[in-house]
Amino acid sequence: MDIIVIGGGASGLMSAYICATYGHNVTILEKNEKVGKKLYITGKGRCNVTNYCNSQEFFNNVVTNPKFLYSSLNNFTPSDTISFLNQFGVKTKVERGNRVFPESDKSSDVIRALNNACVNNGVKILLNQNVIDCYKNQDKFSVITNDKKYLCDALVICTGGSSYKSTGSDGFGYKLAKKFGHTIIDIKPALCPIKLKNNWVKSIEGLALKNVQLSAYSNGQLVRKEFGEMLFTSNEISGPIVLTMSSYINRKNNIELYLDFKPALSEEKLENRLLREFDANKNSQINTVMYNLLPKNIVEIFLNACNIEKTQKINSITVQQRKMIIQNLKNFELDFDSLYNIDYAIITSGGVNIKEINPKTMESKLVKNLFFAGEILDVDALTGGFNIQIAFSTANSVGKGVL
Ligand SMILES: Cc1cc2nc3c(=O)[nH]c(=O)nc-3n(C[C@H](O)[C@H](O)[C@H](O)COP(=O)(O)OP(=O)(O)OC[C@H]3O[C@@H](n4cnc5c(N)ncnc54)[C@H](O)[C@@H]3O)c2cc1C
Repeated sequence: MDIIVIGGGASGLMSAYICATYGHNVTILEKNEKVGKKLYITGKGRCNVTNYCNSQEFFNNVVTNPKFLYSSLNNFTPSDTISFLNQFGVKTKVERGNRVFPESDKSSDVIRALNNACVNNGVKILLNQNVIDCYKNQDKFSVITNDKKYLCDALVICTGGSSYKSTGSDGFGYKLAKKFGHTIIDIKPALCPIKLKNNWVKSIEGLALKNVQLSAYSNGQLVRKEFGEMLFTSNEISGPIVLTMSSYINRKNNIELYLDFKPALSEEKLENRLLREFDANKNSQINTVMYNLLPKNIVEIFLNACNIEKTQKINSITVQQRKMIIQNLKNFELDFDSLYNIDYAIITSGGVNIKEINPKTMESKLVKNLFFAGEILDVDALTGGFNIQIAFSTANSVGKGVL
């Protein structure tokens, strides 16, 4: 069978390789001058290629449509990714949180393995081929690029999401999918910073907080609580718990965010702590006492939110003011503006509606011999190597589906 794969990224290279091992005649059309441009920048250039955890843990890290991925992830597991890389000469190592990297810490080694797997199995990789249109006429697909027209029996669309457009994934695949009758679930940024309206954010740019808890509510209902590290950037918050939170709130509206500076302490314990501090510093100003509880540069902002003058003496702090301090230490409101621009999101949420895709084969239920794999599908996961694994697993299913 003649197969064309559009896109030479994680899912395109893997699906081309798998299809070729089944004896098909496979061509990759990639618009860039080289394959794997996005892979190259993954994991800060080290490529966190998968997560070596059990399947339950894996699915816990898939934010959107985990059930759709049961079959593909069980058929091509994180161990299979590691074996694949080892087979093509890339040794791997497991780091904190079961994150798997090439031992060399070089994403280029992962790209080379995928490229060699394809070339050794006869896949033709055609570069600088920007696909601008596709259609199906009877049993054949026509694929039109900037300079040629190609024909094939099966078409695999692996054009990625809509973020980091300079790597080639500019959302064109969604247009193609629509052309074939598919619905596209709204595209949203995921794993991205969150913009705040608070005008003080810039003044604490660079401030990192550890062991804090961020809670998000939508229309007054709790969406999620995340415990860990975050930081303030120019007009946004970022860092691990913020990136995770972005993936859970990107389809919700009327978002409210609250920060718990002391998640380990109940309000009662916090009050006792505060009383001890106040007792020991009766004649001090409130700001100096708050320095024992919060990073120095956020204290003034914090006291403003409590409507307390930073110079007020401890011995004049009223019970009401003390309650206000406790309330804000546990539930400090951050004024949500929006998620960060999708161009800078690590992953795109939304995409080809999975209800229209066979989960065992990634074949379109609408058009025979049309397949999708990778980020173009409406699936997304948290950081930790899960997204590349999803690209590989869905790509592997394509190989099983093309008969
Ligand atoms: C900064 C950053 C860091 C990341 N780090 C990690 C990480 O460490 N671990 C992890 O699991 N995930 C990570 N991700 C996510 C991961 O990179 C993606 O989920 C994964 O690359 C998706 O693979 P894909 O094949 O679907 O799409 P892509 O890898 O984006 O590949 C799509 C390919 O299609 C090509 N293409 C698009 N349109 C056309 C067209 N019209 N004609 C021809 N070719 C076309 C593009 O040029 C591109 O090469 C990271 C993402 C970013 C942005």
